[in-house]
Amino acid sequence: MNSPELGTAVSTTTATTFSELGLSDKVLGAIEATGYKSPTPIQAQAIPHVLARRDVLGIAQTGTGKTAAFVLPMITMLEKGRARARMPRTLILEPTRELAAQVYESFEKYGKNTKLNVALLIGGVSFGDQDLKLVRGVDVLIATPGRLLDHSERGRLLLSGCELLIIDEADRMLDMGFIPDIERIGKLVPFTRQTLFFTATMPPEIQRIADNFLHNPVRVEVSKPAPAASTITQPQVAVGREDYEKRATLRHLINTAENFKNAIIFCNRKLEVAALHKSLVKHGFNAVALHGDLDQSARMAALDAFRKGDAKLLIASDVAARGLDIPAVSHVFNFDVPHHPDDYVHRIGRTGRAGLTGTAISLVAPFDAKSVATIEKLIGAPIPWMGEPVVVGEEDARGRPRRGGPDRSGGRSRNGRSSRSGSGRGREGGRQEARSERQEQVRSERTPQLRESAPPPKASEPQPHRERAARDTGDTDGSHLPAFLLRPVNIKA
Ligand code: AMP
Repeated sequence: MNSPELGTAVSTTTATTFSELGLSDKVLGAIEATGYKSPTPIQAQAIPHVLARRDVLGIAQTGTGKTAAFVLPMITMLEKGRARARMPRTLILEPTRELAAQVYESFEKYGKNTKLNVALLIGGVSFGDQDLKLVRGVDVLIATPGRLLDHSERGRLLLSGCELLIIDEADRMLDMGFIPDIERIGKLVPFTRQTLFFTATMPPEIQRIADNFLHNPVRVEVSKPAPAASTITQPQVAVGREDYEKRATLRHLINTAENFKNAIIFCNRKLEVAALHKSLVKHGFNAVALHGDLDQSARMAALDAFRKGDAKLLIASDVAARGLDIPAVSHVFNFDVPHHPDDYVHRIGRTGRAGLTGTAISLVAPFDAKSVATIEKLIGAPIPWMGEPVVVGEEDARGRPRRGGPDRSGGRSRNGRSSRSGSGRGREGGRQEARSERQEQVRSERTPQLRESAPPPKASEPQPHRERAARDTGDTDGSHLPAFLLRPVNIKA
């Protein structure tokens, strides 16, 4: 059984059992089968209001059980009535395909005793199949904004029969540039509909949209889960500034990690995800990758393999991995330190879930110092060093590390191969990448035909440069390790 990171609900009435909430018997039966003992605060607070057809403003993050807070009453309400062709009865908007797919799975889980037609309209999936579903009549339409508008603009979809609109992860929609699309969709659904609006944070722009969309809403607020769960040990490890060094350190950490079961490895850029994936597979690791350049079936296959335990390592970018519910992840590695401290909290929160313990290790290069300081400020605690922090040697005129610096063993790998990355990227480069990945997702939602026929990502693109750089320095394939990593270490909590 999963148990979300419970928060504290602000509003007053709280039911302690599911049976007090007004849900149908079929839904209660499905809940029983999941093994949940009691509703989470967001569920206890929101469900009675949703069933009473009130608009709800839910301030809650992933991990609080908020999906069930709208899915359970929706199933109850939709048990009566039938859908008409091309006119969905309800609409759920999600910022990413993965989140949309996750909500779809919730309907399968909680709606197993109910016959509902649930359709998923997301980019990267064939238009034809989606259209066929719409023709048959849909009780619940789960969509990303761009793809939904594409269907609507083609005259394939009428939202005038939509009784309930759910905007999930509104602040993330803002972050990804979807707000204009959301506002257009708002004009396509009837004014008299019921609206549920979920967001983790309430910046002024989100408040403005909430005011526009909601009529006399009930506000349900669940406190943020602690920034860094106390069940997570989170050391940082010093690495050099080159990717080959980081890769070698990462392999060593994976191979020597205690209680290792599986790991999510985060990179800041999708190119880095692809390159690291290729490298880990080459080194015999059972790894899959998840980033915005992969087509939808590849993304779902990767997630599936990781969830089932067929793959032990999932290498991901922030955009692709946000909000995903993957229980029982033993380790998180930050191959790159995230530029935004919030991303750090999201990332490490993938482990240590549901009361389990977890370890989140950040590989910290000299240029990451500022990012680490901002993270430490947000979480309100220093991130302890694993081993001793390393003072990095000077660079030569060509920007390469000088041999013999304190963090360079200068050693050659057993097999003597070399593959050095000369990426030398900085903070701005990473931020631009994150931004461009978001823009890419927006584009890909809106231009499915192009995306579907696009060639697969070239993970090997930077390779010639890397190999050339490696030859230049005579460096190894990254098997060389900072000496301190070969000493036994003590992780301080
Ligand atoms: P969410 O915040 O919707 O992403 O949910 C986080 C996790 O909590 C999911 O794995 C759900 O299956 C689980 N969950 C939802 N409701 C409950 C509950 N009442 N008791 C225990 N686990 C729950």
